[in-house]
Amino acid sequence: MTLEIVPVPVLRDNYVWLMHDPESGETVAVDPSVAEPVLEAAAARGWTISQVWNTHWHPDHTGGNDAIRAATSCTITGPAEAEKVSKLDRIVAGGDRARIGGYEAELIDIPAHTAGHVCFHLPEAQAAFTGDTLFAMGCGRLFEGDAAQMFANMQRLAALPPETRVYCGHEYTLANGEFALSVEPDNAALARRVEEVRAQRARGEVTLPTTIALERATNPFMRAGSVEELAARRAAKDAF
Ligand SMILES: [Zn+2]
Repeated sequence: MTLEIVPVPVLRDNYVWLMHDPESGETVAVDPSVAEPVLEAAAARGWTISQVWNTHWHPDHTGGNDAIRAATSCTITGPAEAEKVSKLDRIVAGGDRARIGGYEAELIDIPAHTAGHVCFHLPEAQAAFTGDTLFAMGCGRLFEGDAAQMFANMQRLAALPPETRVYCGHEYTLANGEFALSVEPDNAALARRVEEVRAQRARGEVTLPTTIALERATNPFMRAGSVEELAARRAAKDAF
């Protein structure tokens, strides 16, 4: 028995992740932008949401918190900044732990997109929820931090076990891949991946999760050799 993790596509390109532990019956909704489609997706599988985890405060990651709690009496865990949107039951930061059934999540501070952004890493389940910090072949915009912080985040996440599956907050993969190809036109692994992603998107498929190994091979932000290089790539991406 292992954790089941499924995407709920909402809004334009957000993914809310539902994570279910068959043994304990617990279900976590990660970054619920909205409530109704998430409650419906859980109900369709016979799951009841017992917890919400937020990676950062942005409303497209927290907007469904209150309505999901009202409907399910779940608890909400997230960084203090998420209280800009809704009251939390438990405030966490890097170094803290969260649990779903017998599985433990270690929290990692990954500031820059927002100042309090955290990653939930579940070592036994080989899964990490990276919100809007690490995307497939991309990284988040630097709204409340700088390139030095994002560079440190990329290094920290790159050091997770390579088989770790990465669940991020948006379907940005194809646009990120097109940009990545402009940075590294001779990266064969990248070229293969972008081909595959084009086919997946043409079929309307979700391109996530990615893995740390795949990001190490193809992500121009994780592959940046210095803060300056990451900053230049981030600026180029913003203008791409
Ligand atoms: Zn965000």
